[in-house]
Amino acid sequence: MKKIFLFLLVFTAVSCSSGQSYTGYTSDQNNLKQHISKLASAEFGGRKTGEKGQKLAAAYLADYYLNLKLEAPAGHEDYLQHIPLEFFNGKSKDKAENVVAYMKGSKYPDEVLVITSHYDHLGTNGDNIFFGADDDASGNAALMEIARLFQKAKMEGRHPDRSILFLHVSGEEIGLFGSAYYTSHPIFPLEKTIANLNVDMVGRIDDKHKNNPDYVYLIGSDKLSKDLHNLSEKVNKETVNLELDYTYNDEKDPNRYYYRSDHYNFAKNNIPVLFYFNGTHEDYHKPTDTEEKINYEALSKRTNLIFYTAWEIVNRKEKIAVDNISQK
Ligand SMILES: [Zn+2]
Repeated sequence: MKKIFLFLLVFTAVSCSSGQSYTGYTSDQNNLKQHISKLASAEFGGRKTGEKGQKLAAAYLADYYLNLKLEAPAGHEDYLQHIPLEFFNGKSKDKAENVVAYMKGSKYPDEVLVITSHYDHLGTNGDNIFFGADDDASGNAALMEIARLFQKAKMEGRHPDRSILFLHVSGEEIGLFGSAYYTSHPIFPLEKTIANLNVDMVGRIDDKHKNNPDYVYLIGSDKLSKDLHNLSEKVNKETVNLELDYTYNDEKDPNRYYYRSDHYNFAKNNIPVLFYFNGTHEDYHKPTDTEEKINYEALSKRTNLIFYTAWEIVNRKEKIAVDNISQK
């Protein structure tokens, strides 16, 4: 019974241009819920950069990667990249950390895909805790699941060809400091960093999509690389088939989201980026951004899409081509 089932699975799975199928791997809603419940709990107190809640969140993430048996990059054996207090220009009370976990590619280990989410949020204000379940516990939960799926594939003999860095940054809410620190003190050379997928707010449904929760906003994909844009479109069509909404990718859009999250520090360095985002909602940057409002079905589908896109980027024969110079 088992054998027959596996046989069918192999032949029904979608195969991509990298020649390896990936649709047998899907994110688990219970895992996503567990991570968000922890990160967005009162215990972590809104995870403000430089405060106790941020340190607890960093320890939770580092522990997760240790248990998952993902590598820590050399020189960062505690899975932490330490950011000195001076770097924050007075905007943080204490030094802070980025959390880093690594999977070395088997064919092109020097070429690195960086997947980011920020784990800091707004802390507390009096009795109010800014839980930040969507912003951005959702993105961190997605990264943790994506790492688990890559690790599962690796254990089953499907080792990625290129390397992957899972980078959970701090200091985002006070001015994109964690990603600025990483890109000014890169663990792996930026010249060999092939793309950045940034995941910031992917657990909610905005008003525009009340009747179609199968969507995600994509920002930045075509700015530096048509190749990355086309790959992302193709992978989506062949797998999750979400509505990819490019409203906020328009240079004339007044929100200017392209410049407002961590991917921009990579784009500034001429690294093609893709920013995944659910749009804003009434709980944005309010204490009411809580765990029970997360739509786990939508989050799971978006997580799958990001995983499949990452899979194709690291396993495709050709490296992502860069076609524009940055607007540095
Ligand atoms: Zn955010």
